[in-house]
Amino acid sequence: MADEAGKFLRLEVVDPDGPVFEGDVGMVIVPAMRGELGILPRHAPLVAQLTVGEIRVKTLENTWVTLAVSEGFVKVQHDKVIVLADAAELATEIDAARAQEAFDRATQRLEWVKAGTVPDGEEVDPFRESMAMKRAKNRLRVIDRV
Ligand code: ATP
Repeated sequence: MADEAGKFLRLEVVDPDGPVFEGDVGMVIVPAMRGELGILPRHAPLVAQLTVGEIRVKTLENTWVTLAVSEGFVKVQHDKVIVLADAAELATEIDAARAQEAFDRATQRLEWVKAGTVPDGEEVDPFRESMAMKRAKNRLRVIDRV
């Protein structure tokens, strides 16, 4: 409706498995590469790259919803915010045990590289492991904030 323009944002957070969050909201804060980016209705059109971090959503009831996000992009246009992420999870749906396991696994593998003790038959890519560690740490941090 024309008279509704500028009063709220339509937010869609999508990862390769499909929609993670969809709804009309008051404000969105995303972890852009250059720092946190707050988006309110009537924001100028924008495309920005996202880093591993937290998305905070202010609902129309003035409560906050938190999501963990891995890398991706945000697009803002005409009060519509689309987040296309490598992976995104609602804080309430993060599996803490899985994140802890991923963190421990990456830590172990990076220790092998540092100590020169990578077992035969294992291949460790330090960059991949440090990204896995970053995602896991982020998920654990986001759970803690709920
Ligand atoms: P893992 O090694 O546990 O798979 P990962 O960081 O490699 O962790 P991703 O590749 O980032 O996982 O994500 C793969 C899919 O699994 C995505 O859909 C993501 O949302 C989901 N996912 C990953 N970790 C968790 C978690 N701890 N809780 C809930 N969903 C998760």
